[in-house]
Amino acid sequence: MSEIKVLDKGDKFAHASIGSLHGFEGKQFVKDATGATSCEISFGTLPTGEAVPFFHSHKANEENYIILSGAGKFQVDDEVFDIAEGSVVRVSTGSDRNLRCTSAEPLCYICIQAKEGSLGGYTMTDAEITERQSLL
Ligand code: ZN
Repeated sequence: MSEIKVLDKGDKFAHASIGSLHGFEGKQFVKDATGATSCEISFGTLPTGEAVPFFHSHKANEENYIILSGAGKFQVDDEVFDIAEGSVVRVSTGSDRNLRCTSAEPLCYICIQAKEGSLGGYTMTDAEITERQSLL
């Protein structure tokens, strides 16, 4: 199991990392390391042929799965579909979900869990361009 490490932290940010995704195994939650207040993020990997050992559903939070590498099958209730690197799957509350790796390489994914219906403004309806001098 890979450990998450806090690498940089300020009053208004936190930077955490699980390191290389190529060596990452298992499941790692991020919220406690970054102090996130709007969502929970987790990294997950499944070796060839493996699925998460249980189905689960959520009461208040939707989940968005972003597939980073590998390929597999995703099941929501009684529907099954193919997923692969680049796929994004949103699953509503009250739905059973699971995924299985069917590729030779591990299925590596990020899951973002946030309160269903909570997104108000986003991108440029929430953001504003500022005039800060770049130090990069
Ligand atoms: Zn979940």
